[in-house]
Amino acid sequence: MHLLSTREEKEKHALYRKAYQVKKEHCGNVVYLRGLIELSNICRKDCNYCGIRKSNDHVDRYTLKDDEVIDLAMMAWRRDFGSIVIQTGERTDKVFIESLAGLISKIREQTEGTLGITLSCGEQDLETYQKWFDAGAHRYLLRVETTSEELFRKIHPDNEFHRYEDRFKALENLRKAGFQTGTGVMIGLPGQTVEDLADDLLFFKSFDIDMIGMGPYIPHDDTPMAGWKTRLLKPAERLELSLRMIATARIMLKDVNIAASTAMQALDPDGRIKAILAGANVYMPNMTPKIYAENYNLYEGKPAVRDNAMEIVRELEGRLKGLGEVIGYGKWGDSKHFFNRVINS
Ligand code: SAH
Ligand code: SF4
Repeated sequence: MHLLSTREEKEKHALYRKAYQVKKEHCGNVVYLRGLIELSNICRKDCNYCGIRKSNDHVDRYTLKDDEVIDLAMMAWRRDFGSIVIQTGERTDKVFIESLAGLISKIREQTEGTLGITLSCGEQDLETYQKWFDAGAHRYLLRVETTSEELFRKIHPDNEFHRYEDRFKALENLRKAGFQTGTGVMIGLPGQTVEDLADDLLFFKSFDIDMIGMGPYIPHDDTPMAGWKTRLLKPAERLELSLRMIATARIMLKDVNIAASTAMQALDPDGRIKAILAGANVYMPNMTPKIYAENYNLYEGKPAVRDNAMEIVRELEGRLKGLGEVIGYGKWGDSKHFFNRVINS
């Protein structure tokens, strides 16, 4: 709690310095890429913070065609990204589950099993997780959003699709299915305290999580939480708190993968570079074609998608060079923690 809230400049700098040193020691001076494919903005859920929630009828709903997904995956493979992430609104119908399993197998086949596949497709049952794992995906990110049950209930509708216990059960099932399991929280939610955030970090540790993806909460006008805007920390403060969460997580957890989330960049053009300097080691350039990505607005001010993900990566490479960091081209960049955990169990 002290590290998350200290106003001492000296302590703040020492926190980032230490976190970056721990990153270099345990994960090297490497940043791994995951080409981000936003597969569909169709969602059965109604999370109160999210711009693509089911009830928002200002959204043009889309699902990428199989061929489009395969083309993007092949592009990521040819360009040596090493991995992709497939993210989507939550769907649990059979058609979707089967079609994603088919896509995963095809991508594995066509890239000769060499392209890493992370999924972020919400809460599913164990059988579905197992199906997708067996098809060839190997990492999964499911944020618990907050470990405070009280806050969780405030930011979700009270119905069977949004149960606190189910979120945690799903994380356990991901691990059972064999996935490298990632979670995370939103930072700077209205009413969230420093104590809540410290509890989140302790949860990551006690659950022995392999990967973390967390970032600032950013309001969206077409959501029930838009009215809470005035209760938020200022954007610069939310970014700072997010960077401190990353730094503290890195120092506590050492060998896990930590993503420099897109939402960081929504608050500061340099947000993701700052996240790397605070201990993050994964970067997800968005590959979703522009015509679709414009309708995948989870929050306002999501960085505009460029025509060419390669452009983003080249720019990143230039920035990293100046910091003495390299991109882990062609590598999966798996969570070292996962292997340490599995070997020790
Ligand atoms: N449907 C899946 C994956 C897509 S949403 C799921 O919910 O797990 C991915 C993440 O976007 C969510 O976990 C949430 O943490 C984040 N998100 C949604 N709305 C947001 C907002 N307004 N500000 C910041 N992050 C948001
Ligand atoms: Fe759907 Fe995920 Fe948005 Fe919730 S956060 S409404 S599950 S896309």
